Amino acid sequence: MEQTYIMIKPDGVQRGLVGAIIARFETKGFYLRGMKMMSVTKEHAEKHYADLSSKPFFGDLVDYMCSGPVVCMVWEGKEVVKTGRKIIGATNPLASEPGTIRGDYCIELGRNVIHGSDAVDSAKHEIGLWFPEGVSEYAHTAHAWIYE
Ligand code: UDP
Ligand code: MG
Repeated sequence: MEQTYIMIKPDGVQRGLVGAIIARFETKGFYLRGMKMMSVTKEHAEKHYADLSSKPFFGDLVDYMCSGPVVCMVWEGKEVVKTGRKIIGATNPLASEPGTIRGDYCIELGRNVIHGSDAVDSAKHEIGLWFPEGVSEYAHTAHAWIYE
């Protein structure tokens, strides 16, 4: 089964959206494999967003990610990377459909409350970067009620 890296950004934490965001992944049927709160260093934020280092907004993005603690999570399930991105919505919250996290909870690109890996490969890379200690493997008692 696939895993994805989901992170509630500093604005999501400050605005009290942690519970609501977790609930969307949890009630869908995905399994929580790792979760922690972290203050992000500039170096770590730059590593996470290394692909975007040439973009004009890179400096503001790194400042945003370091402006308060984030909540880091690993979620697991069938096609969780793609489905996670659907649950999150489009990068620009004003283009995100109502019913998605960004569509429901935010307005601006640089305050879009959540990160989610965009592909299986980047998810593996990001999980390694944020959870070098590894994640929790445990049996889910509801498994047979979620999967055929
Ligand atoms: N971002 C921004 N301005 C832009 C594009 C992106 O501030 O013009 C920020 C935004 O917070 C976004 C993050 O940079 O979530 C990473 O950009 P990416 O294109 O990877 O979007 P995502 O994968 O988060 O949807
Ligand atoms: Mg991205």
